[in-house]
Amino acid sequence: MDRLYLIKEGEISLKGGNRNLFEKRLRQNIKDKIRPYHSEIDRQKGRLYAYISEEAPEELVDKALRTTPGVVGYARAYRTEKSMDAIIRTALEILPTSSFRDSGTFRITVKREDKGFPLNSHQIAIELAKAVAEVFPKLEVDLDSPDYTLCCEIRGEAYLYTDQIRCEGGLPAGTAGRGMLLLSGGIDSPVAGYMMAKRGMRCDAIYFHAYPYTSNEALEKVKTLASLIAPYNQGMRLFVVPFTEGQVHIRDNGYEEEATLMFRAAMMQTAQLIAKANDAIAIVTGEALSQVASQTLDAMSFTDSMTDLLVIRPLVGMDKEDIIGKAKRIGTYDTSILPYEDCCVVFSPKHPVTRPVKEVSRRHYEELGMESFIEEAVAGTQVFSFDSMGREIDA
Ligand code: ATP
Ligand code: MG
Repeated sequence: MDRLYLIKEGEISLKGGNRNLFEKRLRQNIKDKIRPYHSEIDRQKGRLYAYISEEAPEELVDKALRTTPGVVGYARAYRTEKSMDAIIRTALEILPTSSFRDSGTFRITVKREDKGFPLNSHQIAIELAKAVAEVFPKLEVDLDSPDYTLCCEIRGEAYLYTDQIRCEGGLPAGTAGRGMLLLSGGIDSPVAGYMMAKRGMRCDAIYFHAYPYTSNEALEKVKTLASLIAPYNQGMRLFVVPFTEGQVHIRDNGYEEEATLMFRAAMMQTAQLIAKANDAIAIVTGEALSQVASQTLDAMSFTDSMTDLLVIRPLVGMDKEDIIGKAKRIGTYDTSILPYEDCCVVFSPKHPVTRPVKEVSRRHYEELGMESFIEEAVAGTQVFSFDSMGREIDA
């Protein structure tokens, strides 16, 4: 036996000629997450009907749907024959197992796509309200802000559902090309990755590890963060780049106040190499304007000039509070605030430049001769891989 889930897609339904592509990807993404359990997904006008093996744990289906961009909401639904008798019988069966309780208010919402059905929407609603009253006699009707809603859709068949779960919305991961996310252990970059996944972009991630200045716990933390955002991104690879020698070289040979800036320039160049080797055409970072010295307009403009790839900063206009709110919602916050320092912090100058002059800093960067460090770092890169439910798999 299968369980039926009715899935609402939001922005996809506004797509014109490409809509099929978006829907197909959304269905694939959901099916991929439910595997190895069997699922079939049909679609009808802005809705997907997912028939999922009842062997699939409900929590797994819930996580799969909540973390799939493109899904606006879902409800466990029940299909029945298109007759008023059958609809009422089904309603009487499902109401006791739903979130409905016998105090407060309810409404009935009817969508009658099949105009041949003998009763109109209003008449169907009245019949169903009588059924509700039979099971929960104390409930009162409130059309505007009910505590509970029973929905009935009359299409090829009749569908009933009660509890709708709100999900992410956005567009299916994999419909907007590939990017490379610079993932540190902080609060911001996981949120940045999640936001781009929600717009359909799939990212792999790069972490610059400066062992022993940054500990293996710091690396474990970044791996956990990658596993937490992998579901939104429909799976993710994490490239761990050993960058200790490059960092030490910058510290010992550059201008102290420019150390962070030089490291960021080297990060961009390294990320660009890894991105290009893996078909990514954009670099994503968790920077927000003026959050720290290296995130001023001048500093970001300098780091941008170190790569010809598009640099996307989805958080650039966001306040820290808003970013923290999102991090909590997607479940990365608790991991991000674990204490292990990231390498930027370890090598941070006391008085960093905030208004670098691009040409001057570029010259200083060139004088450092980072090419060999970058080459070695790329050669020593380790890859970890996470599947679409965030489980680590062989890379
Ligand atoms: P986050 O909270 O994401 O760490 P932050 O506010 O601490 O950001 P920075 O440490 O200056 O800011 O880093 C800015 C951005 O640069 C990060 O959001 C991330 O995209 C990238 N970044 C910083 N450190 C690393 C690292 N060790 N490996 C990969 N990317 C990094
Ligand atoms: Mg950081």
